[in-house]
Amino acid sequence: MPLDGDQALPPPELPQPQAPPRASREERIRHPFLDGRPCDEAGNFLPPGTQPPPRTTAPPDDWSPYDDAVQFQVADFLFQKQLYEAIDATKVGDAPWQCLQTEPLAVGEDAPAWARQSYEIWYRDPDAIIANMLDNPDFDGAFDTAPYDRIYEDDPTTEGAMYTPLFFGSDKTTVSVATGDVEYHPGYMSLGNLHNTIRRGHRNGVVPFVFFAIPKSDRKYDNDPQFRTFKKQLYHSSLAAVLSSLKPGMTNPVVRRCPDGHFRRAIYDFGPFIADYPEQVMLAGSVQGWCAKCTALSKDLDGDIQGRRTHGLTDTLLGEFEADILWDEYGIDEDILLATGYWASRGSGPLG
Ligand SMILES: [Zn+2]
Repeated sequence: MPLDGDQALPPPELPQPQAPPRASREERIRHPFLDGRPCDEAGNFLPPGTQPPPRTTAPPDDWSPYDDAVQFQVADFLFQKQLYEAIDATKVGDAPWQCLQTEPLAVGEDAPAWARQSYEIWYRDPDAIIANMLDNPDFDGAFDTAPYDRIYEDDPTTEGAMYTPLFFGSDKTTVSVATGDVEYHPGYMSLGNLHNTIRRGHRNGVVPFVFFAIPKSDRKYDNDPQFRTFKKQLYHSSLAAVLSSLKPGMTNPVVRRCPDGHFRRAIYDFGPFIADYPEQVMLAGSVQGWCAKCTALSKDLDGDIQGRRTHGLTDTLLGEFEADILWDEYGIDEDILLATGYWASRGSGPLG
């Protein structure tokens, strides 16, 4: 069962970190500080050699009633009775589907239909998904509790923690049309701690966590700037809202149970987001044609200005320049970055 991520953890009591051992070519060296030490359910580190406590409840390794089929049978998922039944049959402890609903952008009768309608974004709490994925004995032996490369955060509260990078991806090829004017495409998540063999081969190694709503409209709105901006903002703010439960665990470790049965202090981090170029552009808040990772000029991607895009740099630029300068000179789409929530409600699903 996932634990409350907000509870305060006792301060770590640790010996002074030793200088990391010298790496030989054959040997993989574990990170000296983020070493994924087992702890108890309250976050207190255990003496070396302590056995993990027995699992008292069936591990949530079975995602029934969901299975791989859900990833591909998203067609009509809002309206198909089967899915409602599946949602209804969700076991306690699984991550249930929930729904975010937008406020209509406009109410006037002369406003286009896409602006007058409300959109639903279906998602499962990513923190609950991660907790279930970590607490899966099937993954024991194919799971790393410490990174093998050098990631050193000079923050004593993360000592002994398990670095837990989250991987994301989306799949536009499974887009489905639920009504005439909204399409959905699924977003997936996985854990960097899992070995690649598991991520590729095990059905619970990659799970759908969101269905992005993609508004459709008449052809005449294809190039309408307001409609295009709204679609980008809806995507961006959906992702921000759905991922918000992960935030506490990104700065303070949260106790999670692992495949080997031990509890550990997990510290979340965003790993790669695997998506095509147009989606990378939306994620980065950058302009089509520009690099989503650095500020090289779109006409000269190998040129001089190749600083990385960072939150700090973007914040500075947003404070200094108007939207047209940001767009033309820096490839920054201010409209995406200033997207805020449109949320009318945060529901618990069609049956809840
Ligand atoms: Zn670049």
